[in-house]
Amino acid sequence: PAALPTDLEIASAATLRPIADVATDLGIAPEHVEPYGRDVAKIDLAAAAAAPRGKYVVVSAITPTPLGEGKTTVVVGLSQALRRLGTNAVATLRQPSMGPTFGIKGGAAGGGYSQVVPMERLNLHLTGDFHAITAAHNLLAAAVDNHLHFGNELGLDVRNITWRRVMDVNDRSLRNVVVGLGARADGLVRETGFDITAASEVMVLMTLATSYQDLRARLGRIVVGYKGVGKPVSAEDLGVAGAMAVILKDALKPNLLQTLEGGPALIHCGPFGNIATGTSSVVADQVALSHAEVVVTEAGFGADMGAERFFNVKCRLGGLQPDAVVLVATVRALKVHSGNYDIRAGRALPQELFAENPEEVRAGLANLRKHLEIIQAFGVSPVVAINAFPQDHDSEHAVIAELAAELGVRCAVSRHVAEGGAGAEDLAREVLAAAEEPTRFTTTYALEDTLAEKIEAIATKVYGADGVDYSPDAAKALQTYEDAGFGDLPVVIAKTHLSISSDPALMGAPSGWRLPVREVRANVGAGYVYAIAGDMRTMPGLSRHPNAERIELAPDGTVSGLS
Ligand code: ADP
Ligand code: MG
Repeated sequence: PAALPTDLEIASAATLRPIADVATDLGIAPEHVEPYGRDVAKIDLAAAAAAPRGKYVVVSAITPTPLGEGKTTVVVGLSQALRRLGTNAVATLRQPSMGPTFGIKGGAAGGGYSQVVPMERLNLHLTGDFHAITAAHNLLAAAVDNHLHFGNELGLDVRNITWRRVMDVNDRSLRNVVVGLGARADGLVRETGFDITAASEVMVLMTLATSYQDLRARLGRIVVGYKGVGKPVSAEDLGVAGAMAVILKDALKPNLLQTLEGGPALIHCGPFGNIATGTSSVVADQVALSHAEVVVTEAGFGADMGAERFFNVKCRLGGLQPDAVVLVATVRALKVHSGNYDIRAGRALPQELFAENPEEVRAGLANLRKHLEIIQAFGVSPVVAINAFPQDHDSEHAVIAELAAELGVRCAVSRHVAEGGAGAEDLAREVLAAAEEPTRFTTTYALEDTLAEKIEAIATKVYGADGVDYSPDAAKALQTYEDAGFGDLPVVIAKTHLSISSDPALMGAPSGWRLPVREVRANVGAGYVYAIAGDMRTMPGLSRHPNAERIELAPDGTVSGLS
């Protein structure tokens, strides 16, 4: 087949519809549409109905290669296909973080003929939500240091302040900093650091908030540090939660953009997938479910992580009912799960991987099987989407379809990247059928279980681990959080996304392993506790020659190098 134009070429050639027309097609009343220029609008939260009734479809994946297996492209392509079939569908996605856009290539939503546009605005400031989140986060940091400067009436333990600062640029030099240098009037000297905005608790809090009232309450509950063992100090104690909510008022409204085929896409927030939930917002989905017949959204990484958190945290806290799961599988990732390759070192996949080899795909099927079991345990119907890449062979797709048939699971090959929505119509029909099936949505654990019981439930029931080993620090932290009254929160487990286990080298469906929990932290405002089982970087660095060196502004205002 002829090579596709680049994502940027395709996106730049697109003719965009006026965004008001896109909103009207979705069914949003004009008074709820706040235009931000010609191509983007914010949607007022009043556009959400009390009892939304659309079908809710989440796109997950098998354990990916470091390149990603195309969930975002499937969300866009599937929504395009559904609209072609006459269904009022909308895609809801995270906003890309600006840091990685200047770091490694790419950041756009989707690929080929399944993209969200305008790509430039999407990849840069969009409507400024990330800047608002950065400002709200840093206002709280300023309040902490101001409180210390003026005598520390609350008695914050200066060595146990957990609230850091954030910004949306990859900058390793800011991971550890000393603030307050200079004269007495310049504040108290102490060590702290910066994370990227996507790692801010405010970012994930925004995705889980269900209303302005809930946003305000969660901001107040943010813990900035401790004044003794188990005695948290909150944003409410510092008196700035109200101001933070005001900074975030417009940012809580989801952003309406469009797909390359002119259908609606709600882009909102972008929390990290490791220490956070890795999903777009509850409010965007509430707005979407209030108007569309089908809402297609994404849960980051593989089903072990993304779908698990989507169900146990996002759906549960947001009161959302899932109707179907699309599980994206690729030939390339299944070949990697054969165990024949070590793909961790570089970002490029070895050339041998692309030779026709259905037996190698078959050798990796244990991973697909395990992810289907994970989804079925939640009581939601899965549909396998074979995301077709140009290098794939029909014989290789057939092996995947055979397993699905053997298990009685719906399955379709999707060619949305090369063909747009037309290439995903088979998938769309399977998804519509799956969404009609009755769901018996169940979560992995009860909120009343202890934090340790919740972590163990995810490790053993979802990941297939034999058990959990806690470091002494982690065990102590769990006790502290139970004592502080945070025991009823759901949990997120931060581990590698490159294996269902906590060891990125273990391919397929690993068994006979235990989950090592090194550290436990709490995002009390956002509303979950997270256990760290791996190296978690919350402020990325730039490479020797970052993508920023290729980004340029031409005299006529044209931007190049973004993707
Ligand atoms: P995920 O959301 O699962 O991380 P993405 O949708 O971002 O994955 O896709 C990862 C990368 O692979 C992107 O650069 C995307 O353009 C590319 N890609 C995805 N599907 C295809 C495909 N079918 N053909 C070619 N490239 C693809
Ligand atoms: Mg994605």
